[in-house]
Amino acid sequence: MKYASTRGNVAGIGFIDAFMMGLANDGGLLIPEQIPQVSVAQLEQWRTLEYTELVQAIFELYVDGEIPSGELKQLIESSYATFRTPEVTPVQQLKDDLYLLELFHGPTFAFKDVALQFMGQLYSYVATKTGQKINILGATSGDTGASAIAGLRGKEGIKICILHPEGKVSRVQELQMTTVLDDNVLNLSVEGNFDDCQRMIKELFSDIDFKNKHQLAAINSINFIRIMAQTVYYFYAYFRITEPGSTKKINFSVPTGNFGDIFAGYLAKRMGLPIHKLILATNENNILERFINQGVYKPDQFKMTYSPSMDIQVASNFERYLYYVTGENTEQVKSFMQQFAEKGEIVIDSAMLAIVQAEFSAYGVAGELCLQTISKYNEETNYLLDPHSACGVAAAEQCAGQAEITVSLATAHPAKFDEAISLCGIKQTFPDAIAELSNKQQRQTKVDGDLAAITDELITFYG
Ligand SMILES: *Cc1c(COP(=O)(O)O)cnc(C)c1O
Repeated sequence: MKYASTRGNVAGIGFIDAFMMGLANDGGLLIPEQIPQVSVAQLEQWRTLEYTELVQAIFELYVDGEIPSGELKQLIESSYATFRTPEVTPVQQLKDDLYLLELFHGPTFAFKDVALQFMGQLYSYVATKTGQKINILGATSGDTGASAIAGLRGKEGIKICILHPEGKVSRVQELQMTTVLDDNVLNLSVEGNFDDCQRMIKELFSDIDFKNKHQLAAINSINFIRIMAQTVYYFYAYFRITEPGSTKKINFSVPTGNFGDIFAGYLAKRMGLPIHKLILATNENNILERFINQGVYKPDQFKMTYSPSMDIQVASNFERYLYYVTGENTEQVKSFMQQFAEKGEIVIDSAMLAIVQAEFSAYGVAGELCLQTISKYNEETNYLLDPHSACGVAAAEQCAGQAEITVSLATAHPAKFDEAISLCGIKQTFPDAIAELSNKQQRQTKVDGDLAAITDELITFYG
């Protein structure tokens, strides 16, 4: 399997090189040159696999022999040994036609661990094999940073710097990042919001000289390997709730910010998993809801919400979807992205909008409804949803049709977002790993929200 850019000027890149390149060198995003196809017979063979076996079966299609199977197996087993349940991503039934796919049983209690535990292992593998130094740089709306730091702290030959928007992540998210005191970790607390952090990261990665000089590597979902790792649980969940030969219509409802996790679902569907609809759930930062319902992609005023990990206006993975919805037309992707840079919006025609709407439904969940959903499920089913997962469930209730079954992705543990839970008048008990955080020492560097100030910090840190 080779990888190519959505903008057409990078192609023929192998798996490890795609992993290390992160953002494509032409400013686009990397995608596999062909999406691997999984037949119905193959799907049925995968049905009974354990989680890590399923990971291996799917990754083999993308790694294409670049990592020997035995070594890949070890990487996968070490990655998922850190999870608190052997099922890794268990499925729970909430009511007749609604299931939750719990993705928060990893070390930092959010779904980002599913991909980042593996990427941590893979960076180590590359650093050891090649003797290369690797400097990781990422922006976070809260969970990616915590998860990447957990996966890479103390690792030989690797340094990691994470930008987070000052005061705009939850208390637990901040503590999970800043209480890690290993020398190879730098937390920059940036004045501004997540979009500012993400834009500056993209600028740094687009500066190829800077990227090469400092051996920068990306952990954000601009890295295709993250998407690949997230496709696995769509398959896993599907097998848990269907019987062989099932013709039930299965939707997935996905709380969305950067269009990463839902794009993984789209990729699973394109690989051959019979997903009916992908329901895109947003909060009040609803650029993606407006795109799907109206065909216009245009950022609006940034809002702080109860689900801070989805407080994103410009979704970095959206370009990957544009590539597929244009029929893999790199010229059209380039022209859309240029339009976006110049006019601040992308407008698609009605034929393309029809394709979008055949694949996706969307619903933007207002703050009030998010809290009501948390309270309602807590009372009726005794299940405490975190505010992101509540957006997924609320959108599922709005968008799922009769006789359809929806699997809603539970992307975080409620203990990470007690700010919202306590507004519902609910007092939760915290897992030990979270309760202990507030007694720990913190370290972070405050920095102005401009590229020059951040570049200075990076040069000092990476050396
Ligand atoms: C990152 C995150 C999301 C959004 O995921 P994307 O891949 O950015 O769409 C949703 N919920 C939680 C808890 C997250 O951490």
